[in-house]
Amino acid sequence: MFTPPFCPRRRCSQHRAPSPKFFQRHGHYWPKCRAHPVPRFRCRSCRHTFSRQTFRADYHDKRPDLNARLVDLTTMGVGIRMCSRRLGLSLRCTELKLRKIGRHLRQLNLNLRFPVEREYQLQFDEMETFETRRNTRPLSVPVLLDGPSRYCIWAESETIRPRGKMTKKRLEIIASEEQRLGIRKDRSRRAIKRTLDRGRKLVGSTTTITLRSDEKRTYPGLAKAAFGKSRLTHLKTNSKVPRTPWNPLFPINHEDARLRDMSGRLRRQSWLVSKKRRFLDLALQMHMAVRNLVKTRFNHDRETPAELMGFVHRPLTIRELLSWRQIWGDRSIHPLSPRGKSVESYQGALQMAEE
Ligand SMILES: [Zn+2]
Repeated sequence: MFTPPFCPRRRCSQHRAPSPKFFQRHGHYWPKCRAHPVPRFRCRSCRHTFSRQTFRADYHDKRPDLNARLVDLTTMGVGIRMCSRRLGLSLRCTELKLRKIGRHLRQLNLNLRFPVEREYQLQFDEMETFETRRNTRPLSVPVLLDGPSRYCIWAESETIRPRGKMTKKRLEIIASEEQRLGIRKDRSRRAIKRTLDRGRKLVGSTTTITLRSDEKRTYPGLAKAAFGKSRLTHLKTNSKVPRTPWNPLFPINHEDARLRDMSGRLRRQSWLVSKKRRFLDLALQMHMAVRNLVKTRFNHDRETPAELMGFVHRPLTIRELLSWRQIWGDRSIHPLSPRGKSVESYQGALQMAEE
């Protein structure tokens, strides 16, 4: 039986500090998309009503049964158009579904992690891709990875200036786009900063951090600024070293290659490229969630990267990824908690069990 953990209305006194019996049962309703009724509740304090669905990630969805299949297809590199045909949805509906799921998974990725003190071996790299037009609108995607567990800490895109071989025709196209859209700025530094910042939040007060990257000149300064000079060892590998399994940057190179394969949007010579970078970011969040929480580290492994990091006690299914809404931070319901406990209390119990 579902018990609401708090009143979902943010301004209500029962939202922050709910008393044990803050709600009363208020009947149920029969949604068209489900075979069972959904219980409704009324808050005794603010008198507002809500239902179990208010706490579910698929609230308001018309076809919640297709969400897991959509995530499965998308994270094996299938494009939106093909997904919509396979699932019998309209193109627009598929697009909107993916965006909603992407926003939810971004919250989930952030909620299901907490600072852990241990020795860190981080790896950092930038991938290059583009939005809409390869010639004129390139993007940089910094990726930060925990090497041993392959836990992807963060990845996001930011605009960069077109570079490489400039033919007369290309220069003309760039000029005409700049007239229309304004000058394309190089914002990769910002994205690197934000990405390393996610790493800083994760490492907490750890005293030994090793960061591996290639020899790009901007990295050392940004890395020192993010982690602090005293506890950081920054090791650089020349990008001309062959990219074999013996390359010190193999974990991140391998994850980049995986991401390019698993995400149709990042493949080379593909139709599936993102038109806007913010939607690429949502897709990246989806890939991160599946990579960290659902898939095992290697094919012969039994544990997922998030398990190896100590964030969860078992792999999640895609259905569980899409179960409870995560907009309330660590007060949201944890997808692996059997009695609908909050993320905070699940993580507390997990840390207690480890000690
Ligand atoms: Zn209330």
